[in-house]
Amino acid sequence: MTIKIGIVGGGQLGKMLIQAARQLSFPLEIHVYDAQKDACAIPLADNFTIGSFDDAQKIGEFLEKVDITTYEFENINPVVFEGYENKCLQGQEALRVFQNRLFEKEWINELDGLKTVPYKVVDENFSMPYPYIIKTISTGYDGKGQTVIHNENEQELYVEEGMVAEQFLTEMVEFSLVAGRKKNGEYIAFPPFKNKHSNQILDHTEFADIDDRLTKQMVEKSKLIMDKLQYVGVLTVEYFFDGKTLYVNEVAPRVHNSGHITLDACNMNQFELHLRCLLNMQLPEIQTNYDYAMINVLGQHYENIKMYETLPGIFYDYEKEPRNNRKVGHINCLKENLIQIKGVRDR
Ligand code: ADP
Ligand code: MG
Repeated sequence: MTIKIGIVGGGQLGKMLIQAARQLSFPLEIHVYDAQKDACAIPLADNFTIGSFDDAQKIGEFLEKVDITTYEFENINPVVFEGYENKCLQGQEALRVFQNRLFEKEWINELDGLKTVPYKVVDENFSMPYPYIIKTISTGYDGKGQTVIHNENEQELYVEEGMVAEQFLTEMVEFSLVAGRKKNGEYIAFPPFKNKHSNQILDHTEFADIDDRLTKQMVEKSKLIMDKLQYVGVLTVEYFFDGKTLYVNEVAPRVHNSGHITLDACNMNQFELHLRCLLNMQLPEIQTNYDYAMINVLGQHYENIKMYETLPGIFYDYEKEPRNNRKVGHINCLKENLIQIKGVRDR
């Protein structure tokens, strides 16, 4: 019997999920739902539906056609999964909480031992020591809707009521932990990644060279989050570490950009792990080649990368229109080639 799997969201994460699904030892029939008919996962799907991510009826019809479903981004009205709890194992609650920065922060700070960077919601009496960063409560990604505020002038210009303001950490390192959980509670995590951002967008990822105790803290905190949600599938937690405290920055109930490094560095990649969790398959022990790195390619870099013939790395082209600051691909390479590739990319 062929299992029918739905993917709500047809971006590059959906596309790479399909590529991983095609590698499994049994056939899957893959259905994609997206708002855009040029979504890059659609050409690889067996079947697709175009509709809004708020359209409960349309998504309901889509869900009727599949045996199980996953979502690959957060901005979906969680209500659309009501009544489909048995098919959507990641769950509605993860969407409801993590698509709203305020719910997300409140929810995290309620968990034992977890905390976010100190924050406030901007109201008429708002004040916070500079520098701080403002973020929109919903629909932000890749730094969209964010501004760092250094002085009163910028505050006047950019800060509006209803935004979230948080202390800006000037000295910190960013990590992400990509982990998978099965319905029976079995839990497995990739080694933590160290992420370097540029203009609030992920620039490149390496494996974190850190104390075992810090790794253990991340593994335990992520597990707490996933257990609390009874989450099934892959979930990513972004962490900030200022040398003293490990803060949870945000949670993505899905595979993650930083996890693309696993496509070459590990015996099982993040997409396969996600599928194995959803399909209740065995989880192999993760083996890692720590010498790898991952570099993002944005629209403005596309020509430079595409034209360069002897790049010492593997270019994953998402085949998306190369718009400015839009993620259109990534390169996996050995860490020792990172600087050379960045040189080519940023010419
Ligand atoms: P997005 O949803 O756009 O990923 P994030 O909250 O993860 O939003 O912020 C994007 C990036 O901006 C972070 O990865 C980090 O580099 C920077 N950033 C966000 N919040 C802070 C902060 N409080 N202090 C320092 N840098 C921050
Ligand atoms: Mg982020």
